[in-house]
Amino acid sequence: ISHNRVWNFSAGPSVLPLSVLEEVQRDLLNYKGEGMSVLEMSHRSKVYGNIISDAEATLRRVLKVPDNYSILFLQGGGTGEFAAAYLNLMSCKSVREKQRKLGRQLACDYIVTGGWSKSGLKETKRLGGITNVVLDGVKSAATGEVTYNSLPPVSEWNLGKPEETAFLYYCENETVHGVETPANYVVDVVDPLVPVICDMSSNMLSRPIDISRFGAIVAGAQKNMGPAGVSIVIVRKDLLERDETDPEITRNIPSILDWCYYDGAESMPHTPPTFTIYVCGLVFKWAENLGLEALEKLRETRSGLVYDMIDAHPEFFHGLVDKKFRSAMNLVFTLPTRELEAQFISEAAERNMVQLKGHRNLGGIRISLYNAMPIEGAKAFVIFMKEFYEKNVQ
Ligand code: PLP
Repeated sequence: ISHNRVWNFSAGPSVLPLSVLEEVQRDLLNYKGEGMSVLEMSHRSKVYGNIISDAEATLRRVLKVPDNYSILFLQGGGTGEFAAAYLNLMSCKSVREKQRKLGRQLACDYIVTGGWSKSGLKETKRLGGITNVVLDGVKSAATGEVTYNSLPPVSEWNLGKPEETAFLYYCENETVHGVETPANYVVDVVDPLVPVICDMSSNMLSRPIDISRFGAIVAGAQKNMGPAGVSIVIVRKDLLERDETDPEITRNIPSILDWCYYDGAESMPHTPPTFTIYVCGLVFKWAENLGLEALEKLRETRSGLVYDMIDAHPEFFHGLVDKKFRSAMNLVFTLPTRELEAQFISEAAERNMVQLKGHRNLGGIRISLYNAMPIEGAKAFVIFMKEFYEKNVQ
């Protein structure tokens, strides 16, 4: 690896494309002859205006975002969008009309496949939302214990009635539990009258998506799209429509979480995270050069190498997730003992492979293989796995 860099398997903030970092470095002190860094640049300058509008336009092209969707750059991380999704949807004109017709508060459907969707659900409850849990992991018939390692069959999903449901929320890739829902799996079963809100923080830009099937897609940038500090929201424009005479709406949403506040001002009603958005723009260009189809192939190849090794030695590398739903981004597994796991992590570090430790709530090993991880990184990891296995298998 050049520049004495390590193979960084962090779940986020995580690895960025080297060519992007090099461009940032090249332009850091004097951005394209402006005599200043982007770090020092007013967000009201023409140059910065071009940076943010280019970033938006590039993302629109890469993801083929239809014209009737807005792309917003916001703050507050992925977590901010848990609250924002609920508050904005409940203020939208069509949802308010549906609620008036029903004569009582609409419910919000939550699909809980792991820690992050659970956090989304909790936030909506905190804000006074009525929630309907469509599914909550997989329950053991024997012990009643819930595990986030698969999804129950669709026939067991407890979907709300469309006329009683404001929106449906899910997280497409559970970064902690390593559960990834296949593309279109959820939108295929939800009534088209119910807007689907999806947290794609950790798998956005890793495969093509049919945006037109979603009400909104929300994502923190710091895994596949850029540095920490910005959240990206792609929202269908009719969901931004509000009845301004309705006294319940805007006063309930702090401006900082109000999608309309941002939409009306090209994401700059106040100072945006300027440098983060600039770097995201470079990552979008990098992704555009490769194309989403190629990025999808890469993600399947990278994760396939590691899963093949796990599947070849299941008595040693114990994958935690049902094959149908295991994530191509965050791969979680355990070794036969805690001691072997600690040894695995420390021997990997000696080979410049870092950030392998499982999430603090889950233990074991987690390696994240985001877009910017070269295939060579996954190959190096698999060689290490094989050697470690051969040395330690009983
Ligand atoms: N959603 C997913 C899928 C995540 O992985 C994360 C964070 O890591 C979040 C939401 C929360 O994002 P943030 O830490 O930016 O608030």
